[in-house]
Amino acid sequence: MIQRTPALVEAHPVDIGQQSWQQLLSDSTTTPEALLESLGLDPGKWLAGASTGHRLFPIRVPQPYLDRIEYGNAQDPLLRQVLPLAAEGELVAGFVRDPLAEKAATPSPGLIQKYRSRALLMITGQCAINCRYCFRRHFPYEDHRLSPEERAQAIELLHNSPEVNEVIFSGGDPLVANDRLLSRWADALVSIPHLKRLRIHTRLPVVIPQRVNNALLEWLSRSRLQKVIVLHINHPNEIDRPVEEAIARLKSTGATLLNQSVILRGVNDHADTLVQLSETLFEAGVLPYYLHAFDPVEGAHHFEVSDNDARNLMRSLLDRLPGFLVPRLVRELPGKASKTPLDLYIDDER
Ligand code: SF4
Repeated sequence: MIQRTPALVEAHPVDIGQQSWQQLLSDSTTTPEALLESLGLDPGKWLAGASTGHRLFPIRVPQPYLDRIEYGNAQDPLLRQVLPLAAEGELVAGFVRDPLAEKAATPSPGLIQKYRSRALLMITGQCAINCRYCFRRHFPYEDHRLSPEERAQAIELLHNSPEVNEVIFSGGDPLVANDRLLSRWADALVSIPHLKRLRIHTRLPVVIPQRVNNALLEWLSRSRLQKVIVLHINHPNEIDRPVEEAIARLKSTGATLLNQSVILRGVNDHADTLVQLSETLFEAGVLPYYLHAFDPVEGAHHFEVSDNDARNLMRSLLDRLPGFLVPRLVRELPGKASKTPLDLYIDDER
C-alpha cells in the first residue's frame, strides 16, 4: 500500500468517481453484438462487417468512452474509431502490417530506439481501447513482454547510452500497467544520471478518466525527471467533464500536457472539427502537438486522408487559429531521424 504524504493528499484531494479503473477496464465491451446492442444499432446492417473486423483485431471499448457515443448514430465520430467494418478484411496495395518498420528498431525486448536522444519502452502490449486505425494493430506484442531479467537488461542498456536523455513509456498503453510496476520503472530511471525527461504516451486518461488515481499521481509527482504526458485525442467529443478533471489532476504533478491526433476520414477530416479540437484541448489545459498523417496499416485503408487533403486542412487551421493552437502535421517514415513535417511544403503547393 502506498503511503500518502499530507502534501500530496492536499494536492490531489479526491479520486474521480467511485468505480476502480481496473473494474471499468475489465467490464469493457468486447463483442460486436454487445457493442451494437448498447448503441441501438441494427445488427442486420452492421453485425457481419463488425464480426469480420473483430476477428482480425478484437473489439475493446470501456463504458466511459461508450457513454460519449450518440445512441443510434452509426456515423458518430467516436463510434467510427471503435466499430469494426468489413473493409478491414480487404487487402489494399501499399497498406502493410508494420508500416513504420518497428520490428527492425528493437535492440532489446521492449526497448525501441528510433531516435538518437530518445528511447521508447514498451511497458505493456495491452490497450484500454482498440482503435481500428492503430498502426500497431498487427504488432507482435507477445514478443515484447518483459520478464524481470529483460527489464534489468533494458535499464542497463539505458545506463550505457549517454546519448539518451528522454525515455518514453509507450505500448500498447503504458497506463494499463499497475502503479506498482510503473513506479518501479520510474524509480529505476531516476537513477540514470543522463536522463532528463520521462514522457508518457497514453490514451487511458481519455478513455477511462478514473485511471488518473492517487497512486498514479503519487509516483509521477515524486520523480525528479521532467514529465511530459502526450494524450491521444482525435475529436472534441472525447473531452467531457471527467476527462477535463483527469487532465487537471495530471497537471497538478507538474507535467506538461500535449496532444497528438491522427487524421482520420469520417472522424476529424473537417477544419471545423480540428479547430474545435484545438480550442477544447487548450481550454482543458492541453497543447495540440502533432496531427499525424495516416500510417498505411493493413486493415485500416478506409480511414485514409490523402496528404493533399491534410495540407488543405492545415491551411484552414493556420487561417483560423493562433499559431500555438495549430498542431504540426507530420508523418513518421521508417529509418528517418525524426518525424517528417508535411506542412513545410504548403507554400510550394500554392
Ligand atoms: S490506444 Fe493507441 S496503441 Fe492502443 S489501439 Fe489505440 S491507437 Fe493503438
